[in-house]
Amino acid sequence: MRTKLVAGNWKMHGSLPDNATLLGAVRDGVADLHTSLVAVCVPFPYLFQAQQALTGSRVAWGGQTVSQHAKGAFTGEVSAAMLREFGCTYVIVGHSERRTLFGEDDAAVAAKFAAALQAGLTPILCVGETQEQRDAGVTQTTVESQLSAVIEHCGVSALGRAALAYEPLWAIGTGRTATPGQAQEVHAFLRGCIGVKDAALAQQVSILYGGSVKASNAADLFAMPDIDGGLVGGAALLSEEFTAICRSADRYAG
Ligand code: PEP
Repeated sequence: MRTKLVAGNWKMHGSLPDNATLLGAVRDGVADLHTSLVAVCVPFPYLFQAQQALTGSRVAWGGQTVSQHAKGAFTGEVSAAMLREFGCTYVIVGHSERRTLFGEDDAAVAAKFAAALQAGLTPILCVGETQEQRDAGVTQTTVESQLSAVIEHCGVSALGRAALAYEPLWAIGTGRTATPGQAQEVHAFLRGCIGVKDAALAQQVSILYGGSVKASNAADLFAMPDIDGGLVGGAALLSEEFTAICRSADRYAG
């Protein structure tokens, strides 16, 4: 059975005092969980604070994006090795906000994924369709091409050191969650895409669902056979919501 993972994506939220409260509450709130993995992906300036607060706990931490370059004249960028220096385990790659607001295309996402792996980070690769793409019936071809770009660049075996996150854009930050059935359908499809290339690996890759996951809908989502946890935005800023989501994952963890 695959390990369940719940990763919080704080986006550009937080302050030193607010983070101290949130990190402490999450750390303590999941301390007695057994099998599921928990992580928070925080803004870069707060990585040191996360490291201080979470070292020795069962909560890992990570970045929300990473440079595709190892070093050099890339003003404003942060390398994967720098994330490792601050103890990061994970980094989100190809989040839809990075793709749509900051122009990251499939090639850039694949290069970032490779850079993360090279530094020993676990990339969480996000794929997902817009409402228009869903309405046009191209959900599967959309997520397949986003996944294929990474497989072509890094090889399918690279997915064994990563997690996938299916995040329909119409569900992110909208309060409108995909139904468990809608999400399961895409998750099974993504697993099938990996399975065509490596059937055993496909059964090992954790595929998270993201898009308005809350304490009230997490259990129904995580009960689906191909949903291996969640990538959580807004609810990750509320310690009780987030820890309740982690508890739901733990109930279904292997
Ligand atoms: C996200 O940002 O990855 C996300 C899923 O956000 P939300 O949970 O707020 O929809």
